[in-house]
Amino acid sequence: MKDMFYIGVDLGGTNIKAGVVDASGGVLVKDGIETQAEGGPSVVIKRICQIIDAVREKGSLSWKKIGGVGVGAPGTLDHKKGIIFHPPNLPGWRNVPLRDEVAKNIPGGAIVENDANAAAWGEYWAGAGREVHSMVMLTLGTGIGGGIILEGKLVRGAHDSAAELGHTIIVRGGVPCGCGSRGCLEVYASATAVVRRFKEAVDAGRATTLSQDVREGKEITSKIIYEAALAGDELAKEVMEETGRYLGTGIVSIMNTVNPARIVLSGGMIHAGEMIMRPLKETVQELAFPIPAEKTEIVFATLGEDAGFIGAAGLALERLKPAKAS
Ligand SMILES: [Zn+2]
Repeated sequence: MKDMFYIGVDLGGTNIKAGVVDASGGVLVKDGIETQAEGGPSVVIKRICQIIDAVREKGSLSWKKIGGVGVGAPGTLDHKKGIIFHPPNLPGWRNVPLRDEVAKNIPGGAIVENDANAAAWGEYWAGAGREVHSMVMLTLGTGIGGGIILEGKLVRGAHDSAAELGHTIIVRGGVPCGCGSRGCLEVYASATAVVRRFKEAVDAGRATTLSQDVREGKEITSKIIYEAALAGDELAKEVMEETGRYLGTGIVSIMNTVNPARIVLSGGMIHAGEMIMRPLKETVQELAFPIPAEKTEIVFATLGEDAGFIGAAGLALERLKPAKAS
């Protein structure tokens, strides 16, 4: 089966990315289209099938060479039944049998997987987690997504709800979170949270080179804050430093729970590099048990936005490949 290819799809609220991936995780071709989520499930499913066909043709491959298709989808789902429950960024979706809809046109079959799990599997299989068997990934974006691989197995939990690492509670009774809880890692250390904490400090009277922009209601992003920090802005530096410390605090809880060999950080925020990594690692040194503090590697992801479709293809390979003859 070594010469078979798998197609991975990363379904997002704005764009659908897809690629043809070989049995070692190498990308043959990739492409993307708009999701057109406002059209509801039937339109989006049609577009998923369209991009699957487009990348297969771009790779000049017949269906005989395609072992199957994996789709990484947002929100909660039942990976065994292939049903997407109610993704917040896909209007009109409720209990959609996505796997069966997609598989209708695919000779090798299809699987669906949570998108954060798929991205973590992508890095584990073909990116920053390649040399280890136990890995945790945190994706730092508008929220914080997570994925856990332990001893070579993706951890999904009893209800497909494991690895919601952004909702690790780091402050009891803290800032309210979209999940209904309070004090989650996500409301302190996501890109959205960085902007909120920065603006709160400005509102509280802290001086910064960006105070006029904040007052005038100009758009402030975590990237702008990072750039201000690079240019020497004290408040921006402080907010980035604290972000690293919040992340370190959440990561220590993860280390104490699953003891991974490697922790991989991905998402737009990793452009801040050492500015968040240094305080993060200092916090881990301070709070973790000595052996994991010394041995757990904390690194940045290497696949960028391709991790989702690569991992979805890799999970299709795992789940659809014929059982080995004994
Ligand atoms: Zn939460």
